[in-house]
Amino acid sequence: MVDIRDFSIDELCNAGKIIVIHSAMNGGKTETLVKEMKRALYNGVNSMAYNTDINARERDAIVVDGKIFHPALTVGPISEIKKDFEDRRSQLEYFLDKPITWGEEIMIRGVPHIKGYPLRVLGVDEVNFFMKNDQEAREMLALADWCSNQKVASYFAGLSHDFRHMPFGLVERLIKYADIVGQKKPACMGIPEGEVKCSKPATHSQRLWTRQYAESQGLEHLPDFNFVGKKHNRIVGLYVPAPFFDLTVASETKEEEARQSEIEYLPVCKDCAKHPYKNETGLVLDAIRKGVDPSSAVDDELITKKIINFLTHPFEGYVERTPEGIYVPLHKNNPFS
Ligand SMILES: [Zn+2]
Repeated sequence: MVDIRDFSIDELCNAGKIIVIHSAMNGGKTETLVKEMKRALYNGVNSMAYNTDINARERDAIVVDGKIFHPALTVGPISEIKKDFEDRRSQLEYFLDKPITWGEEIMIRGVPHIKGYPLRVLGVDEVNFFMKNDQEAREMLALADWCSNQKVASYFAGLSHDFRHMPFGLVERLIKYADIVGQKKPACMGIPEGEVKCSKPATHSQRLWTRQYAESQGLEHLPDFNFVGKKHNRIVGLYVPAPFFDLTVASETKEEEARQSEIEYLPVCKDCAKHPYKNETGLVLDAIRKGVDPSSAVDDELITKKIINFLTHPFEGYVERTPEGIYVPLHKNNPFS
């Protein structure tokens, strides 16, 4: 695997390198991004990081493990990134020929920079949330291209796959486009049957629910998912694997916010990954595709209702429900079967 640190910041900027860092959830990709933003400063180059308002738990900061707060700008559409970056760069250019100011700090919209250093490093965290559709994917590639032409090193950190191990947005396109791709593979944290912790390389993000939340959803029969926590503590009997039909991204309502405390993510290997109700989800979608009543596909009313709710959710985009109550499949294929 390529180590980004084999390249100097100057080399990366001069060649306008496009760098993608991807891994499973909690795999250390954001940490790598923040380290690179800091490495730029130690090399006499200002850097600027962005994240999205879709999923930012902390606005205007990138947070690693709830501990490291790196100043960043939280933005909406991708176009805001380029606009902000260009504006900062021209403000900082003003000081490049004024040595008397060098080394002083300047705050621009809440993010500190150093006078006398050019702005030549751009970072985007959680890039998967910026690339949800074709239009956004093209805009993100255009941003990377623009950076490259401007001799700006651009870093993009994100998940390539969601918790169902389905491609997350269109990050794969960016991976193909990148000059340098770093894939972080943390150790699997699962405790499979038996008592010994698994230690295979993790390529997958396992989503877990607290047992309490599973019970509140009428899914108390889900099996335990035991694992080793961040502090090496064994967590047994408290969590279950999130069902396959759980929504990809929680929406912004208060209810969903409260749900966040009931959800955990864990890097796991493909053997430890568990997706309850994957088959059932495929069966319900198949029924809809064949124009058969979806409630006949799975012999469980509650599960069928939850699966339909997932399939018809606008963000997921698998099925549309017409005002007349007819289900229309939105994909050519069934990705779950
Ligand atoms: Zn494992």
